[in-house]
Amino acid sequence: MAVILEASDLIKSYGETHALAGVSLEVQAGEALAIMGASGSGKSTLLHVLAGILAPDAGTVALHAPKGTVSVGELNDAARSALRRDTFGFVFQQGLLIPELTAIENAALPLMLRGVPRPEAEQRAAQWLATLGLSGLEQRRIGQLSGGQAQRVAVARAQVIEPLVVFADEPTGALDSTTSAEVMDALIGSTTGRGRTLVVVTHDEGIAARCSRVVRLRDGHIVETRSHVAGMDYIQTPAGAATATMPPPPAPVERPASAPRGDAR
Ligand code: ADP
Repeated sequence: MAVILEASDLIKSYGETHALAGVSLEVQAGEALAIMGASGSGKSTLLHVLAGILAPDAGTVALHAPKGTVSVGELNDAARSALRRDTFGFVFQQGLLIPELTAIENAALPLMLRGVPRPEAEQRAAQWLATLGLSGLEQRRIGQLSGGQAQRVAVARAQVIEPLVVFADEPTGALDSTTSAEVMDALIGSTTGRGRTLVVVTHDEGIAARCSRVVRLRDGHIVETRSHVAGMDYIQTPAGAATATMPPPPAPVERPASAPRGDAR
């Protein structure tokens, strides 16, 4: 797999608080990467720096796009805005949809902001709404949708520009667990299912389990990276080499008593 985002030695401080205290991270094209950690561990700061919303105090973020590598930190404000508008998609906890607009108008908005004529923008938005199971709800205003439906409109709005990377910050934080799982499946399916990359901040273990890789932050440091490949968990901590562990089996299966187990934090 190719690396699409490469962060090196990121530092971001607010006064005495080191939100990022030297984070290096490679995001692979086509993966679903979850960023986990306690509140205040630096998750949102990392997501915002990776997405060019926030400039780090030190360190670099490189976007290896098909057209060439872009050094996100060296772009001026206008170029960073253009990157966020044209290359990245965003889903936030509250969706940040415009309540006065209908579902289809909300989903079409990023295209119209790029100058796509309204009929074409709405046609493409309608396709995304249908893909996300929202056919028939196109003309509803956001207040007339359930929380899960509104978040799927937010997913459609993120996907409509066909972004290289989708960034999601607690996208299901305001939803119950069943709806949360549905929205997450829609988000992952519409991103990695189409070969695109997802970076999602979450505190929900159920959501992280749906992702192919999980990094855990503590006090602005990555303290663990866990990948899930072919039924095996691979765990890496800064201090040690990677270890492979079997995830807990769904039903009793034979396992040697000495099977290696990782730190299942
Ligand atoms: P998380 O997303 O894991 O909850 P954040 O990235 O939001 O963590 O914040 C990491 C640390 O940086 C926290 O201690 C937080 O209080 C601090 N922080 C984040 N943003 C700001 C800000 N704009 N001003 C001051 N402190 C901030």
